[in-house]
Amino acid sequence: MASQAAAYPGSYYAASIAEPGDYPGLDADLRVDVAVVGGGFTGVATALELAERGHSVALIEANRIGWGASGRNGGQVTGSLSGEAGLKKHLRDVPGGDVEAFVWDLRWRGQRIIEQRVQRYGIDCDLKHGHLQAAWKQGHVAALKADLKAAQARGMGDRVRWIEKDELRELLDTPLYHGALRNDANLHLHPLNLVRGEARAAADQGVAIFEGSPVVDIQHGAPARVVTAQGSITADTVVLAGGAYHKLARRDLAGKLFPAALGIVTTAPLGETAHRINPEDLAVYDTRFVLDYYRLTADGRLLFGGGANYSGRESEDVAAYLRPRLEATFPALAGVAIDYQWQGMAGIVPNRMPMLGRTGAGDNVYYAQGYSGHGVATSHIVASVLAEAIDGQAAEFDAFAGLPHGRVPFGERFGNTLLALGMTWYRLLETIR
Ligand SMILES: Cc1cc2nc3c(=O)[nH]c(=O)nc-3n(C[C@H](O)[C@H](O)[C@H](O)COP(=O)(O)OP(=O)(O)OC[C@H]3O[C@@H](n4cnc5c(N)ncnc54)[C@H](O)[C@@H]3O)c2cc1C
Repeated sequence: MASQAAAYPGSYYAASIAEPGDYPGLDADLRVDVAVVGGGFTGVATALELAERGHSVALIEANRIGWGASGRNGGQVTGSLSGEAGLKKHLRDVPGGDVEAFVWDLRWRGQRIIEQRVQRYGIDCDLKHGHLQAAWKQGHVAALKADLKAAQARGMGDRVRWIEKDELRELLDTPLYHGALRNDANLHLHPLNLVRGEARAAADQGVAIFEGSPVVDIQHGAPARVVTAQGSITADTVVLAGGAYHKLARRDLAGKLFPAALGIVTTAPLGETAHRINPEDLAVYDTRFVLDYYRLTADGRLLFGGGANYSGRESEDVAAYLRPRLEATFPALAGVAIDYQWQGMAGIVPNRMPMLGRTGAGDNVYYAQGYSGHGVATSHIVASVLAEAIDGQAAEFDAFAGLPHGRVPFGERFGNTLLALGMTWYRLLETIR
């Protein structure tokens, strides 16, 4: 591994890597079909899909595989897409012609891809089924029940169920919530082990992976050239998958995506208490706009995330901020030891719809980013859309690329301030409704 790679943050995930090992830095000039920039879920899943389809691929990561949001997140694979209402309104010319059906199918495509991949490549990532989406206020119950009805109408009746407030106490030892939607099609997992396992599978399929190799320039043309400090990759096609961490293609992408710092804590192992507070090992998230989310780890810790810092900077003390929320959720854990705390940057798009497109004068440099906190499933969906487009089937890609993504004026300088103000407004609306 090249020396400039930043180490993983001190997370529970980094402390429980299942498949150790690293990849070399790029110190040569290579020629491939596709160069993918960024080794998170978007980049790794795209590289793997393309290799499975027979393309020669190089994947270039500035730090370590899964170093960004993909190796730091809550590990909840949700059956909802960010910006879903907008997608239904703005998507045009979708394959099959029925936008509602297309969006419904998208909701579950990420889960299918992840499950198949874990099985096919034997990825050890603590994959489990079962989510609770818990109503924070009585006023949130109706929307959850409408979602339940929609799922039942589409044949998912055996996987979804409404849990009344009283019954909920048997599943979660918490005084919060007014009922919950249980969904056993949704997954939770160890995201760093998933992305590293997928990278290993990609390498086995012939993908040349480089760590510690920040891309400093993209030279557009046919072919295009991706340049690092010590080497370069010449490729027919380039995919930019740097999420909230990259600063490439500013002319097209500046002012459209804003990093929000999200924090997570993990307690010490809870022993028997883990089973008492969450006996069925379900992943939980609430219905607020800026929500709390949590689940147990394989070794019986509570992994708890919540809130967000929209300033674009990391918060000073995540544990101090999250402990009161954790203890309000589970009073039985008052004073529990916190073993790990960390933060990561999620890419927020103002209209919350995933951003896919091409950048530069040609049509061979693609980008995909901005899943607004729903990226575990969405990144895998997007990777399948990108791979298909690069393979010559661009119908889905074109539908996404046609979505309207405005530029926030002066967004590069003031975008995060505007985002923070917008979020404060939404939270205010939420408290008075
Ligand atoms: C704390 C936290 C909790 C979250 N919880 C959930 C959750 O429970 N469920 C869910 O669905 N989503 C969640 N998300 C969102 C999800 O993690 C992201 O949407 C998703 O991982 C984004 O993947 P990505 O590959 O696009 O970006 P990233 O994983 O951020 O990867 C981008 C990579 O590109 C690399 N890079 C950047 N610039 C360059 C360059 N110039 N050259 C080379 N490489 C470069 C970076 O080093 C990084 O590794 C959470 C996010 C955070 C931060």
